[in-house]
Amino acid sequence: MRDIFTPPADDIGLRGKNEPLELLKAWSGTSLAFAIYLMGGQVLNPAFWPILLAAALTCGVGFVAHELAHRMVARRFGATAHFVANNPWLLISIAVAFLRVFIAAPGAVWHQGYLTPRQSGLIALAGPASNLGLAVLSLVALWLIPPGIAVPGLPLEVVLRIGYSINAWIGLFNMIPAGPFDGARVLAWDWRVFGVTVAIGLLLTFVIRV
Ligand SMILES: [Zn+2]
Repeated sequence: MRDIFTPPADDIGLRGKNEPLELLKAWSGTSLAFAIYLMGGQVLNPAFWPILLAAALTCGVGFVAHELAHRMVARRFGATAHFVANNPWLLISIAVAFLRVFIAAPGAVWHQGYLTPRQSGLIALAGPASNLGLAVLSLVALWLIPPGIAVPGLPLEVVLRIGYSINAWIGLFNMIPAGPFDGARVLAWDWRVFGVTVAIGLLLTFVIRV
């Protein structure tokens, strides 16, 4: 997601903060929020810890991959680009997860530099495309990996199912063609690319269930 919140001060937008720390905050905050959401707020339940690990490997990785994909493509086009975590929204997302509401708002990649509509569209597309790619990888892994393998506390296939569903959803959600969402920029660039991406997102989110 980009531009959804008030831009950071110019100096931060230009030079960035301590980016590994910003990404760590986004990864841990979204993982915690998603685990609390999945557990219905029961953080004292012993099952919370394996679910938190699964959330970190699926939702947390999905958000970091999304933002790094924006940043990588922006930098490829010569723009200055940095990820800045959104601390208030990370805290709000953790709080509302106890109410069984999952808000995806880890922060945004800010970039500066001259960009054509095509370059801007490709930077926007990179985020949702990374999530749809992760969903497809999870699906392929589900087919290939023999049963019986476990990560601590959970069968690997459960983790892959969570990874598939949440990444398909993050990819589709960010293609909303309005306001601050990536979909608005992709649609402004090329309606065919927008249509194909949304179709893949709908297929993965609502048709292929695992
Ligand atoms: Zn995005």
